[in-house]
Amino acid sequence: MNQGMVTAAYIIAAILFILSLAGLSKQETARRGNVFGIAGMAIAVLATILSPNVTSYGWLIVMMVIGGGIGAYLAARVQMTQMPELVAILHSFVGLAAVLVGFASYLDPDSHLEGAAGTIHNVEIYLGILIGALTFTGSVVAFGKLNGKIGSKPLMLPHRHLLNIGIGVVCLILMFIFLGAGKGAGAAILVLMTLLAFAFGVHMVMAIGGADMPVVISMLNSYSGWAAAATGFMLSNDLLIVVGALVGSSGAILSYIMCRAMNRKFLSVIMGGFGNAPTSAGADEDEEQGEAVPISADEVAQLCKDAESVVIVPGYGMAVAHAQHPVSELTTQLRKAGVDVKFAIHPVAGRMPGHMNVLLAEANVPYDLVLEMDEINDDLGDVDVVIVIGANDIVNPSALDNPNSPIAGMPVLEVWNAKQVIVSKRGMATGYAGVENPLFFKENTRMLFGDAKDSVNAVLGAL
Ligand code: NDP
Repeated sequence: MNQGMVTAAYIIAAILFILSLAGLSKQETARRGNVFGIAGMAIAVLATILSPNVTSYGWLIVMMVIGGGIGAYLAARVQMTQMPELVAILHSFVGLAAVLVGFASYLDPDSHLEGAAGTIHNVEIYLGILIGALTFTGSVVAFGKLNGKIGSKPLMLPHRHLLNIGIGVVCLILMFIFLGAGKGAGAAILVLMTLLAFAFGVHMVMAIGGADMPVVISMLNSYSGWAAAATGFMLSNDLLIVVGALVGSSGAILSYIMCRAMNRKFLSVIMGGFGNAPTSAGADEDEEQGEAVPISADEVAQLCKDAESVVIVPGYGMAVAHAQHPVSELTTQLRKAGVDVKFAIHPVAGRMPGHMNVLLAEANVPYDLVLEMDEINDDLGDVDVVIVIGANDIVNPSALDNPNSPIAGMPVLEVWNAKQVIVSKRGMATGYAGVENPLFFKENTRMLFGDAKDSVNAVLGAL
């Protein structure tokens, strides 16, 4: 393939990636978006392999077989509940790749860029390694936090802001020294900066706690895009630059949307500490907490039969229990019986953006029944029965009425305004943010204890 054909293939791939992003923005077109993305990536990989830059296929084939094999194995085995972790660890690979490409690029004996071109190339290498390194360790820590190996509580080191600023300033000074240094000293400076960036990535994500994790996931998504774009500059690969910029900017927009959904300022999220604020919540909760009143599946079935409108609020527990198919079946049965059924989706429900939408789509719940929080919150007062399935933080009233709560200010689904609330969960455990939930003790709340899938199946049986 000559260079002209490679460029043409890259342009086609870039257009397909843009169409893919556009498709992924709506549930109705998401499948098509995926197909565009797959086609774009297939064209990109093929054009790169067949480009005149590739002169030997031996190593390439070996590495592709190993990488592809590991990817296929993991993708086939991963549970839906582990998707967020998988995404986090995949971000870390992009970061690590940027670091490795940066070092390889710097140490490449065939690279003879001089003067301004050489300086620009070295800046690209330095920034690429910096972003890649903090993306790598940040994503590994996010992976640990999402799968529970690392606690969700924020790590509050003394003078942590000073520490972060200090690392930033040292990295900046090192860059200027690096630009004036020869190969040997330059490589040593790169290693030092990489270690600092590794430490920064760990500290940055360790300091972010509880309910702020959605922002971190989308932020690391964005960083991985910028790391890929930096790699594109180092390798003079236009497609990688375009794709990196697409991922980087869409991740940044997603972070903004997540921040807005949680009523948080991006900077204060990055500064960390949400979920561990000094709080008098304990005392307030002791006063507020009454007794959680259980309900049986038969009674829930009767309530649903008698209701004109039912709203279902899915959360992380629905994903854990794989309850989406029985929930879909329950929806069908109730609609057949003339009940108006809707779903209310909180933007940070579950463990990754769009988590609930994906599960409901998988279970063939009609898209028009699935409403976003802003579309349904004001109407919840008119609803007869709200069924909360494995959700907790996203329906916590203390976010609105307890200014001392660690999640104070986060918009939540105001389900307690409905006539009757049913909460399906296994026990009285807290959610991801580790905050007690006064909803469970409200007068119009009943607890349907047990695994969500078993509970919904029991309600279906009773119907
Ligand atoms: P939560 O984590 O707040 O609550 C989930 C609840 O599900 C738990 O209280 C648990 O209670 C229950 N549960 C667990 N397993 C089962 C089961 N098998 N059957 C029934 N119930 C079960 O989930 P939400 O969706 O309400 O909130 C999401 C939280 O995750 C927010 O704090 C959000 O910030 C955070 N987060 C979101 C991300 C995103 O991008 N969406 C990313 C990272 C974090 P019990 O053990 O008693 O059953």
